[in-house]
Amino acid sequence: MSQQPYDVLIIGGGPAGLTAGLYASRAKLRTLMVERMILGGQVMTTTKVENYPGFPGGIDGPDLMVRFQEHCQEFGLEVSYGEVENLIDRGQLKAVVVDGQEFLTRTVIITTGAEPRKLGIPGETELTGRGVSYCATCDGAFFKNVPVAIVGGGDTAAEEALFLSRFASKVHLLHRRDQLRATKILQERLHANDKVEIRWNTEVERIEGDGRGVHAIELRDTRSGKKSPLKVEGVFMAIGVVPKAHFLAEVLELTEEGYILTDAECRTSIPGVFAAGDVRKKILKQIATAVGDGAVAAIMAEKYLMDEE
Ligand code: NAP
Repeated sequence: MSQQPYDVLIIGGGPAGLTAGLYASRAKLRTLMVERMILGGQVMTTTKVENYPGFPGGIDGPDLMVRFQEHCQEFGLEVSYGEVENLIDRGQLKAVVVDGQEFLTRTVIITTGAEPRKLGIPGETELTGRGVSYCATCDGAFFKNVPVAIVGGGDTAAEEALFLSRFASKVHLLHRRDQLRATKILQERLHANDKVEIRWNTEVERIEGDGRGVHAIELRDTRSGKKSPLKVEGVFMAIGVVPKAHFLAEVLELTEEGYILTDAECRTSIPGVFAAGDVRKKILKQIATAVGDGAVAAIMAEKYLMDEE
């Protein structure tokens, strides 16, 4: 193929990718972003973002991501849509395979992020989209004046429980331990919300329903082993995320959990290939840290290109 190679090809268009795109296109590098679905990443499914600096009072996730996109457009970032299937290292040039077509590039920045983890219990797959959901922001409004459950004890579970309380008659937050992982401010809001009931040391064993939707779930007390039914019409999973790097398992060094291993400057095991945001192994997964990563990865890519010349 005679296509002129890109300087930088960014895989994924969430906060890390869009920041890398902004830095790279502003640096006048020939940059292509390849996104599978819609730009914005996981933030598109968030209601209010309260901890991204510069927006006192908070900002809706999709609104924030539209600003990121517009900012990239100002510097002419090229965006293409498709599924990245593979990355082939040919030394100075890399080939990124998108829907069977090869794109040549001198550097790659992987910012594919993460997706919701599945619980893996009976009824979960069969009832997904018919009462089982991985996104309260997307589906919460369908559950007006009915009881729902949310599984998990982290920031996502806490935020989504609060969001669901706007619609549902009752929100049962089911957590497998006796302590939440969510930040204190969210815990305080949960405790102050009359509609939210936290059920400690509780696991969900199965989800029951039919073509019309979810009717109930079976709970198990982790201390006594006692089982009990709970009538709910919606079950929201918020038990963390899994990185979207499986398509690179043969190519890059990953951790056991599937995160891309990098150094502090976002370099992966292949020279010229960088990873930024939630897909790389790191301690804190926030929009602010994804943005920081995206900037570092783009600057490191630029430096790599200069060293190569
Ligand atoms: P998380 O922090 O990893 O929490 C996952 C929760 O699910 C934990 O409470 C965990 O229980 C529980 N869990 C995991 N596997 C389970 C299983 N098989 N069965 C039952 N429960 C299970 O995930 P997250 O809440 O999605 O957050 C992901 C990252 O995004 C975090 O770094 C978080 O701080 C960040 N985030 C930030 C904000 C914000 O700042 N506003 C909002 C959303 C997310 P244990 O506690 O027992 O492990």
